Amino acid sequence: TSAHDDLRALVRTIPDFPKSGIKFRDITTLLLDPAGFARTIDALATTVEGPVDLVAAVEARGFAIGGALAVKLGAGLLLIRKDGKLPGATIAEDYALEYGTDRLAMHVDACAPGAKVLIVDDLLATGGTALAAARLIRRAGGELVGARFVIDLPELGGSEALSDAGIGVASLMN
Ligand code: 5GP
Repeated sequence: TSAHDDLRALVRTIPDFPKSGIKFRDITTLLLDPAGFARTIDALATTVEGPVDLVAAVEARGFAIGGALAVKLGAGLLLIRKDGKLPGATIAEDYALEYGTDRLAMHVDACAPGAKVLIVDDLLATGGTALAAARLIRRAGGELVGARFVIDLPELGGSEALSDAGIGVASLMN
């Protein structure tokens, strides 16, 4: 992870967001930097071995990272959204977030059975969000090939939780 000190320097820390005592790792500053954004996508792409049919990106910051990575990998982009946002027929999964609970959804026909799917989000904390995305993809019959994040907060155990679910994880910085 120390190989990406240049990228780490572009992440801003906002104290007491979204509530007191939380140090929010803000990647909007990384996205604003053309070279930093490009290097982020290149670095994530080098962690991917083998074919990927679909990048499954989690709303909302995951869309920015996942969309760019999908183009780089020659994959399609599967949008995983908060429940109630997608217009077509959906399947949904509840999940525990670091700051509450919520429900993720995807179009029921978005993932062909056997499609190789890579989950992408900006940050891995407890892993609850990514595990809910993984349940959606597995329900649809997709084959998870891993999960990728810009930032991992290792003390929150998300990487172990995903590994326990059989999902290989890589991230660019802790
Ligand atoms: P988890 O479900 O792994 O506990 O939390 C990860 C989700 O919460 C991700 O969708 C991520 O965008 C969001 N998240 C939690 N904490 C932070 C943070 O400090 N910075 C950013 N950018 N996202 C966070």
